[in-house]
Amino acid sequence: MKYNHVYYFLLLFVFANSFGLSHPQVSFYDGGVVTKKNEQEVRKILRKLNYQHSETIIVRKLNEQVKTCYACVLEVPFSQKHMFIWEEWFEGAPEDQKIFLIGHECMHLRMNHLSKRILFVFMTLCGFKGLAMKLSPSKLKQELISSFGILIVLPLFYLLSRFHEFQADYWSAKNLDCADGGIAWCKSMASTTHLGLAQSESWRDYLLKKVKSIFSTHPTIEKRIQALEALNLAK
Ligand SMILES: [Zn+2]
Repeated sequence: MKYNHVYYFLLLFVFANSFGLSHPQVSFYDGGVVTKKNEQEVRKILRKLNYQHSETIIVRKLNEQVKTCYACVLEVPFSQKHMFIWEEWFEGAPEDQKIFLIGHECMHLRMNHLSKRILFVFMTLCGFKGLAMKLSPSKLKQELISSFGILIVLPLFYLLSRFHEFQADYWSAKNLDCADGGIAWCKSMASTTHLGLAQSESWRDYLLKKVKSIFSTHPTIEKRIQALEALNLAK
């Protein structure tokens, strides 16, 4: 694919979303209406964060097909903000874990994490395009330099995403004073999902895990627990 196509695609993506055409993504996560009681509980936690747009967040049930998370948010530039919760978990979960998770998701919205990542990719690709045009008049060389931009923007995108996860953990735990809830939630997630905590492994598994982690949107559970424990120690 030509470099030009990539950034026209990204441009289209941002604009399509800005006109509220994010429906396919929303319906991918959407599992239907959430009960009144659960919605009220989510809103109660959101209010504690003093986030001015919290009342406009649409709270829905997480699609059961999406088993990789307990809750997630979809924030599309200039479009409505959605929060999806895994209702069965939410109903039986301890209070402090719920507070931490809802706080974490709200922080993603409040800090515009997804928009920042989209903007970052767009700006970097445009930057490389400009650089390519400045450095060489040859079309071939321009394509090569631009392609290099795509190569480095991907791992940086994931790195930024992992940073955003730490940020959301940190501010949720700090604002709602729920680091212990966060640690407990991390441990519970490790025991019920594919993520798991590290066990003894061969060097090959270790290497594979390291390479995979470069292209991972979330930090490992161990690292998230360490960061939350550090926050507890700093109190
Ligand atoms: Zn997150």
